[in-house]
Amino acid sequence: GPDIIPVATATGAYDVIAGAGALEAAATRFQEMFPRGEAIIVTDTNVAGLHLDRVRGALRQVGIECEPVIAAPGEGQKSFSGIEALTDALAHAGVERGDTIIALGGGVVGDLTGFAAAIYKRGIGFVQMPTTLLAQADSSVGGKTGINTRAGKNMVGAFHPPRLVVADAAFLDTLPKRELRAGYAEILKAALIGDAALFDRLEAAGDGIYTPETLQPALTSAIRFKAGVVARDEKEAGERALLNLGHTFGHAFEAEAPGQMTHGEAVAAGLALAFRYSAQRGDCPQADADRVAAHLRTAGLPDGPDAVPGGPFDAARLVDRMRHDKKNSGGTITLVLARSIGDAFIAPGMDANDIERFLKSQM
Ligand code: ADP
Ligand code: ZN
Repeated sequence: GPDIIPVATATGAYDVIAGAGALEAAATRFQEMFPRGEAIIVTDTNVAGLHLDRVRGALRQVGIECEPVIAAPGEGQKSFSGIEALTDALAHAGVERGDTIIALGGGVVGDLTGFAAAIYKRGIGFVQMPTTLLAQADSSVGGKTGINTRAGKNMVGAFHPPRLVVADAAFLDTLPKRELRAGYAEILKAALIGDAALFDRLEAAGDGIYTPETLQPALTSAIRFKAGVVARDEKEAGERALLNLGHTFGHAFEAEAPGQMTHGEAVAAGLALAFRYSAQRGDCPQADADRVAAHLRTAGLPDGPDAVPGGPFDAARLVDRMRHDKKNSGGTITLVLARSIGDAFIAPGMDANDIERFLKSQM
């Protein structure tokens, strides 16, 4: 059966049900969550076409009728107008305080629906049903919700933990390979931060990493890892910042060539850079940086800036982006670096000129 991973934070305790049969395994819990026998499912047109019928069928089996609220796909929905349309739709559907809504989709649907649930009638419950590997491995766990604004991505949001996360393996059957690879980058990130044994297993699996027999246990390990981090540091006072491994570089690529790469492709190159920079500084063995790069190539992911779609990139411009990353303040750059595979650390106050010299050498 599916794995059950408990997540316990100050703002809420919930389970992640992950793997084959997760949807059916969650059914009994739905009965308690939807006592009126009705549920609103927020999704996008792509996911509605692929998975809505199965989800509705599973809920009907336990006596719950679903009404879908279907948004357009894409990052553009994570906006003030997207939140306005969604909260209006919830009001129109008669959603009340104490109710729970379901987010069925990738990170966009999860972030948008989670934020709507955080603010609609000052807060209602929501269930995450992540349908992308990225959302299953990363964004559906940890309670971060929000939208993008003119000032940047995820600029406005709230911590609002879900009541339950249902990461059903069958959702991934329809995911394009490029999206699967993108999600894999976040699994790999978890291994590189704090689970060396997971990296060893992934490395040993080679190009078999995308088979369900390897991917599902790896996904569960990554969720368990993230659950531990957010339980200890939900609001990112310290340890949770480790989850930014590869992301300060990655966000800079994404900002330089918006829409050209997947988030996972940007992060993958960022992971390679973080390890190479750690090795150059003498923090980490060069052999570990080489293993990371080799595994990224095996996984079909960029192992450096030259392999990121949307390039070539300019080192000075990337560093400028890094300086203005939402997570940096006062003009200094905080990076996540590594002592070895599975042992990342937070490195505040890094020298921008040194990073720029390093990046130039990597182009
Ligand atoms: P993320 O990659 O951050 O999880 P999105 O929510 O933008 O983000 O999803 C990426 C794209 O994949 C969207 O166009 C979405 O409609 C589509 N999608 C989501 N889940 C699936 C799925 N299981 N199968 C096929 N396409 C999907
Ligand atoms: Zn990420």
